Amino acid sequence: MPQLLARALASRESVFARMSRLAAQYGAVNLGQGFPADAPPAFLLEAARRAVGTVDQYSAPAGLPALRDAVGTDLGVDGADVVITCGATEALNVLALSLYGPGDEVLMLEPVFDVYLPQARLAGADAVTVPMTLDPVAGWSLDLDALSAAVTPRTRALLLNSPYNPTGTVFSAGELARIVEIARQHDLWIVSDEVYDELYFGDAPVPLRTLAPERTFTVGSAGKRLEATGWRVGWIACPPGLSSMLAGIRQQGSFCSPAPLQAAVAAALPVARESGFYAGLREEYAERMALLAGGLRDAGATVFTPRGTYFLTALHPTWHAETLVEHAGVAVIPGEAFYARHAAPTGLLRVAFCKSRDEIARALERLTAARNVNVP
Ligand code: GLN
Repeated sequence: MPQLLARALASRESVFARMSRLAAQYGAVNLGQGFPADAPPAFLLEAARRAVGTVDQYSAPAGLPALRDAVGTDLGVDGADVVITCGATEALNVLALSLYGPGDEVLMLEPVFDVYLPQARLAGADAVTVPMTLDPVAGWSLDLDALSAAVTPRTRALLLNSPYNPTGTVFSAGELARIVEIARQHDLWIVSDEVYDELYFGDAPVPLRTLAPERTFTVGSAGKRLEATGWRVGWIACPPGLSSMLAGIRQQGSFCSPAPLQAAVAAALPVARESGFYAGLREEYAERMALLAGGLRDAGATVFTPRGTYFLTALHPTWHAETLVEHAGVAVIPGEAFYARHAAPTGLLRVAFCKSRDEIARALERLTAARNVNVP
């Protein structure tokens, strides 16, 4: 019998899929994988109902013109520079295949979102990671000198995420300016994963493309913004003139994103902006975050308050994600899942608060009990 290639044999179920599977198996409250408990907004669902039966055939690989324009208007870029993808995951993969290959290095941070490393590897490139620093009092910070020192003659791109999953960091304008300086000095591409661009709790994040439009690819997600992660509608805002080449790469994969869902997102993006939907989401999530953070602190965890995303990170001396899901009935993501090259801080967990208040309250009851039973 022929053999599968080593890269297929080495592929593993993602930690998010795994924790959701275990949560279902053990009847656990799922504060692991980042998908919202709430239904998507009615204006999105109604637009989708109108589109099914009307917009049912392929779109161009770059996406429906109406959606490219809606994303362009929303981000303040030309719709011609936007490529629609099947979620941010495909967007990141298209960028990996387009920007770096054998012999190249791509620089990213650790903790690292789980698709960045495998996608670089599948593209034939080497991922180089720079660890974020975690101070028990001050929280997470980026060592810009370490980032600069990690650039080599082989580095082709910087892959960044702000608001940052899992740390909740939002990089400041000053940090971003320094990152741009490094990219310009070494002539690097910047891939800026901004899928949580509307989920912030302090100052709005500065989009990297506004500082370095000539070299920044912005990755975005309708699933994250509009609470419909299963729809698989994401986008890349490209530096001018590059979108047709990226669309050429994406057509070899999924060809195009589901056309009626693209049409629905095109109709929904201006409504979401004008109706204050994102501000409402931020207010609601800020309250759920406070509820979760307070409960976790009461149960003995050190909690790092996020500035963005719908995740928080916490340290707990005795909790382990693998045993919590089975013995405490709560699924969270183990910190080690975000580390490949460096050691994860001991006791690090990522906990999602895009869940209902009821789920959060139930999870906290169970975790408080787990604190007393000393989970094995
Ligand atoms: N972004 C989500 C998270 O971090 C999950 C992504 C996925 O499962 N593909 O939980």
